[in-house]
Amino acid sequence: MEFTDIERFLVDFTYVVNTDSASGHTDGILTVARFFENRFLRLGMDCEILMPGNKEVPCLKATVGTPPYDVMCLGHMDTVFPEGEAAKRPFAVHDNRAWGPGVCDMKGGLLVALHALETLKRTGDLDNMSICVLFNGDEETGSDQSQPLILETAENCRHVLVFEPCRPDYHLVSQRKGGGWFHIEVTGKQAHAGADPHKGVNAVVELARLVPSIQDLNDENTGTSAHVTVFHGGDKVNIIPSRATVSVDVRILDPGEKQRVESFFAGLHPKRLCKDAQVRITGAIDRPPMAETDQSRALQELIISQAEQLGIDMKAITTGGCSDGNFTASAGVPTIDGLGLVGANSHRADEYIELASIPVMVSLISRVCRKLAEKKSTTAG
Ligand SMILES: [Zn+2]
Repeated sequence: MEFTDIERFLVDFTYVVNTDSASGHTDGILTVARFFENRFLRLGMDCEILMPGNKEVPCLKATVGTPPYDVMCLGHMDTVFPEGEAAKRPFAVHDNRAWGPGVCDMKGGLLVALHALETLKRTGDLDNMSICVLFNGDEETGSDQSQPLILETAENCRHVLVFEPCRPDYHLVSQRKGGGWFHIEVTGKQAHAGADPHKGVNAVVELARLVPSIQDLNDENTGTSAHVTVFHGGDKVNIIPSRATVSVDVRILDPGEKQRVESFFAGLHPKRLCKDAQVRITGAIDRPPMAETDQSRALQELIISQAEQLGIDMKAITTGGCSDGNFTASAGVPTIDGLGLVGANSHRADEYIELASIPVMVSLISRVCRKLAEKKSTTAG
């Protein structure tokens, strides 16, 4: 392995994990951003802490070389854990694993990117490379503020490496479903359930009629899933309910499914309901899928072949969860995700990473960056 200084990695890991940085906790995220800024500056990179959108979400951009960048290293500094979490269960190492809030999702991944670039600096490669790092601070809440910055940055990059956790047994993520949420509200008419039910329009019953057709959206062939996950309606047992709502979680793998799903919901009109019931539908497929392309497959193959040279049998998986990789992939830039440390149980207190994956992933990313830079010089030559 090219990278072996685990001790140094763990010193950084302790500091970063023990700094709370929940989404929305601007000061905490800024502290994490400053830590990385300081280190990237020492590599001679140009750094900028940006506050896009509502000015409450620190994002760190660091670059070396000139655009178009061969590689964009993309990650998020925010976690799902509230302020005070790190004091309750600070960074710890036992059973060949590291534990603590955000250790897997994804502070370990941010450090993989940092240490890979530090490795490239030591070997004298970094100064001749063009690499862009973007760490945002609102991924766990949907990247509402940073999304334009991510897209604008990706436009100047040839490849995107996303440092969300690598799955157990070295599974990177080559495809992610996109998706969105839809909400349906039916308004009927309230009435006494015993004395004059005929004066009522039962919103729960009317809304329930729509549920089977929503379930029919599920299609294994295209990878589309649609699930009614919340259903509210009614209040008192002797009153015909006048209001009912459902929320639907939809995921798509094929970009073309956006149109089918959205027109399905647009067409879910009172035809199916009794004429006195009113329906209001909101929502959209607002996260595009991270779909495989020829270019992303080539990037995936390059990563897997470099892993092979490190003695690692790496494989690719598809997941239903979204990441910022969905945005860069939809912008047409080949994107591979799951390049952080090997770990599991994200968003839970028993989240961990495997220590053995530290030298592997840092060495792998340095090799991949080197290959991607070479690729350009050979194509240019
Ligand atoms: Zn994450």
